[in-house]
Amino acid sequence: MTDQTPLVRIEGLSKHFGETVALQDLTLDIAQGEFVTFLGPSGCGKSTTLRILGGFERPTKGRVILDGEDVTGQPPERRNVNMVFQDYALFPHMTVAQNIAFGLELKGMGKADIKRRSDEIMSFLELDAFGSRYPLQLSGGQRQRVALARALAPDPALLLLDEPLGALDAKLRGQVQQELKSIQRRTHKTFFFVTHDQEEALTMSDRIVVMNKGRVEQDGTPEELYFRPASRFVAEFIGETNLLSGHVRGTEGDKVVMDWEGTTLKGKAPARVPGEGQPITASVRLEKLGFHAERPQTANAVQGRVVSKTFLGSRMSMQIAVGDKGDALLKAYVDAETGQSVGNDPVWIGWEADNMAVLND
Ligand code: ATP
Repeated sequence: MTDQTPLVRIEGLSKHFGETVALQDLTLDIAQGEFVTFLGPSGCGKSTTLRILGGFERPTKGRVILDGEDVTGQPPERRNVNMVFQDYALFPHMTVAQNIAFGLELKGMGKADIKRRSDEIMSFLELDAFGSRYPLQLSGGQRQRVALARALAPDPALLLLDEPLGALDAKLRGQVQQELKSIQRRTHKTFFFVTHDQEEALTMSDRIVVMNKGRVEQDGTPEELYFRPASRFVAEFIGETNLLSGHVRGTEGDKVVMDWEGTTLKGKAPARVPGEGQPITASVRLEKLGFHAERPQTANAVQGRVVSKTFLGSRMSMQIAVGDKGDALLKAYVDAETGQSVGNDPVWIGWEADNMAVLND
């Protein structure tokens, strides 16, 4: 196998539950060592994909190739894949060491090798001190780490993680996200992570696959999805954005020129540009809007009045009324000092064409 060969190849995967189409014609490659996140709202088919990869569910159509081998019909124990569940599924009557050893025993490993591998993984995940404790004697974060240790112990080629941080409180969650990402880097394991939390996906992933109604909406790096969303769905699902609905005026190179609230705007063109006069929506992130006393030299500039400010600590969220009748609202993030200095006088808001993505609906 060369480095270019994907570790996982998903080919034309569909899954129907009676009338419900959970997954529709999913085709996707995952490279060895990638941290891939499936992100989407409830019911979009994330868990179904994960369960098919794990062998817990049979697809209606399509194939799963793992390490060059078609494993579509193989049961979970015949695949070199392991899983971390949201509730960790630790055995409460077993110690941490016994929980970790369990999967290795199932694999038929000898006693001495089990001890060596368990010690190795406990030391790697800094669990040495907890070997003889029971799960109930651990914090949420520690339990999560034990579940990860147990799943990594048999050295699976692919690790499936189904909302594994869902049970942690917000503060611990941030810390465990960093930890999990660092473990993935250090082990060079391929992680297939499922979440509905866009912030979590942005923080941890090398690549995010946004799912909507059983189909891939967009597949890219966190930066690509955030700054170059391909559709309104992705623009709204990932981060906060301003959606500007106007009409196409024409194109200039790779830019779309559009009319919006009596102003002409320019933004990056989507894959398909509708004809002149057709309705179109553009997305510009809150932090890309700049405040100016005079009309700025940016490709896009509108005049408006700040109607509300919210202090958020390191920055301020501003609402600006703009447009012909002053009834269109833009939302912007600025640093707290800039926010405080803006008063009731009219202000100019400017942004570059490269910072606005014109969307395919
Ligand atoms: P969540 O974030 O809520 O877990 P999800 O994106 O993981 O959602 P899936 O669990 O993959 O979504 O479900 C996709 C669709 O398939 C949903 O409409 C769900 O109701 C349906 N579905 C999943 N499992 C079954 C099943 N065993 N029987 C019938 N319908 C199912």
